[in-house]
Amino acid sequence: MANLLELQNISKVYTRGLISAKATVALQDFSLTLREEEPTIMTVAGESGSGKTTLAMLLLGFITPTTGQIIYRGQNIVGLEGKDRMAYRREVQAVFQDPFAVFNPFYTVDHLLSVPIKRFKLAKSRADARNRMEEALTAVGLRPEDVLGRFPHQLSGGQRQRINVARALLLKPRLLIADEPVSMVDASLRASILETLRNLQRDHGVSIIYITHDLTTAYHIAKSIIVLYRGSVMEAGDVDKVIKSPQHPYTKLLVDSIPWPNLDQRWGEQPIKVRESGGDEGGCPFRSRCPVAMDICSTRPPLFQTSPSQAASCYLYAEKPQIVAERLSELLPV
Ligand code: SF4
Repeated sequence: MANLLELQNISKVYTRGLISAKATVALQDFSLTLREEEPTIMTVAGESGSGKTTLAMLLLGFITPTTGQIIYRGQNIVGLEGKDRMAYRREVQAVFQDPFAVFNPFYTVDHLLSVPIKRFKLAKSRADARNRMEEALTAVGLRPEDVLGRFPHQLSGGQRQRINVARALLLKPRLLIADEPVSMVDASLRASILETLRNLQRDHGVSIIYITHDLTTAYHIAKSIIVLYRGSVMEAGDVDKVIKSPQHPYTKLLVDSIPWPNLDQRWGEQPIKVRESGGDEGGCPFRSRCPVAMDICSTRPPLFQTSPSQAASCYLYAEKPQIVAERLSELLPV
């Protein structure tokens, strides 16, 4: 079975300062595989500083990994050129947090949607372009007649975010990077936008990497979840199992702080500073906050498979079989 996307042991380290350079590990040894024939919704969850935004930027090709490779349909995305680069740009789309940011207040929705159609030469005629716009708007639950011809200030936040999704859908993407897509949308609209994303996966075969700080929405949308802390995978597995029966002390802490069942309340608003290398280098990244830390935790824990569809990077499970990062995706349901 062909792979749509393979992240192979990706790390991203930022350095700053010329004389005494400091390194910040934003993402460490991250691996993930999405299969072409099995479109899925995978959540990558973490607080501020967990590395999830770095992951989104890497996937969109805005930055390159320090080590490791990102392979899309058999090709390393670093160094893609010409047609292959255009294909990647078309097939991997993003929806960001701020539904207002992509709108120029002086242009109508039609203009916003026509830009990608022209750029990627998707339509044969004006009528064809119009049909494509209407199709994409309908697919995200909007009535074309309600939004076409309108300016941004005439639309609600929820409508704008759906238009962003429709804009991505126009390009018939294979992969959508949804980076906190509902965090700036009214609570009343959140569920319907999540449902729209689910429809894209189910009806249009689009795989979605749903990046969030919010475990409640992750629980509602995804089949599987990877929990990041300071750039490292803490726990991963079936979303139902990870949230109902978390294994890692960090995930337990997060789940305990979820204000079930109120979707309006948020989790993880407290920012955590990105770890600077040094100090606990090499040990468990969660050590300084862990209530059950042990001597052995001063060395970096591998991933242990705690159940058929769950793994945690924690020495509490040292008697369980280890699993290397590259094989983690085999545990994740699609
Ligand atoms: Fe806590 Fe040690 Fe597990 Fe890290 S490895 S979460 S410090 S018990």
